[in-house]
Amino acid sequence: AKPVVAIVGRPNVGKSTLFNRLAGNRISIVEGEPNITRDRVYADISWLNNAFIMVDTGGLEPSNDDLIKNKIKYQAEIAMNEAELILFIVDGKSGITTIDQEIAQLLRRTNKKVILVVNKVDDFSNAEQLKWDFYSLGFDEPVSISAEHGKNTGDLLDIIVDNL
Ligand code: GDP
Ligand code: MG
Repeated sequence: AKPVVAIVGRPNVGKSTLFNRLAGNRISIVEGEPNITRDRVYADISWLNNAFIMVDTGGLEPSNDDLIKNKIKYQAEIAMNEAELILFIVDGKSGITTIDQEIAQLLRRTNKKVILVVNKVDDFSNAEQLKWDFYSLGFDEPVSISAEHGKNTGDLLDIIVDNL
């Protein structure tokens, strides 16, 4: 079976933008299963002779704070159960939030590999400096990208397949 890579993070950090950029048009929405799985979107990805399945766990983003917290717990649990590798996305423009810290706490409990991805780094001239803040979340060196502008997403794919 192909390894599964899950994208996790609070609403609005750019999970779906990253997913769509990496997946292109190879996206399938899982339907017909009750409740939880309805909001998962899968894509088959190939990169340098490696094939894997990517999952965007945040298809329906709730707006209310309590719902967000429950939803994120779900996401994290799905990711920790199903995936070989977890991409934990944070927002380089807004910095770390309380919800990011809560997700980090959940993800630190897993023995799965977690790659911390700092998105919305549209201007790479201060990328290194920006990264420092995110070390406090307790993962290895963050990977800076701009999902919207496709910056460093090839390097991210290299790192993903290196870790599968
Ligand atoms: P999700 O809720 O985590 O799935 O986030 P979305 O992918 O829906 O993106 C949320 C918002 O962030 C959208 O307005 C995107 O256009 C924007 N966004 C995503 N990636 C980037 C990026 O690399 N740079 C900037 N400036 N905005 C981005
Ligand atoms: Mg989304």
